Amino acid sequence: MRILAIHAHPDDVEILAGGSLALLARVGVSLTVCTMTPGDCGSAEMGPEDIAAVRRMEAATAAAMLGADSICGEFRDMAIFNDDAGRRRVTQILREARPDIVITANHPDYHCDHEATHALVRDACFGASAPNYDRGAHAPLDKIPHLYFMDSTDGIDRDGQILRPEFLVDVAEVIDMKRALVGCHESQRNWLRKQHGIDDYVEKSIQWTANRGKLAGLAFAEGFRQYHGHPYPQSPLLQEIFEELTTLAAL
Ligand SMILES: [Zn+2]
Repeated sequence: MRILAIHAHPDDVEILAGGSLALLARVGVSLTVCTMTPGDCGSAEMGPEDIAAVRRMEAATAAAMLGADSICGEFRDMAIFNDDAGRRRVTQILREARPDIVITANHPDYHCDHEATHALVRDACFGASAPNYDRGAHAPLDKIPHLYFMDSTDGIDRDGQILRPEFLVDVAEVIDMKRALVGCHESQRNWLRKQHGIDDYVEKSIQWTANRGKLAGLAFAEGFRQYHGHPYPQSPLLQEIFEELTTLAAL
């Protein structure tokens, strides 16, 4: 079983799904974590290439902690667009990683890169299995992968309304691992203090995980929903894996 977790920036995957990936890593699935950009705008002190180099390392450290492969799509911050070139690039990423399950960004979300990633990955999952689409370095996928979306940042839409996931994964057992995974992104503590007024980067993400759990009476949880568009696979493949590992609460 191969699973690709792909989101816009280094740290998005760990904040939104780090606990769930820590659980999946226990059962010997092959995990790949892909960030669309190397986070080149995530600093007020360092230039884009310098901070990108730091953040590629931080992403690789977090992935190594999970036993996952780490790749970067090398888009640039604020420059991920749902266009022809972007869709082709993401298609090649999918064909290289060859996942059975893809977990990506939700829509709506506060950041343009998150929403563009959502659309690109959704559509590239379809394109990657079409033999005549973007005949490039990697062979087409045999079938469209099962597609899932993580929670949006803070679990809310652009109007502050709470978004309810389709199901919640109980991550209480691995909450310390999640803390460690988010903590790998050390460069972001300073940046977020300055730019977003967020003082405790790691504990904020843990607090959010606790808030998500409250939707189903769990101490800590992360939410997901499956993409139900025709003709994507509809069987609950990811849910079945989680059910073997932890409590899964349908909402
Ligand atoms: Zn992000």
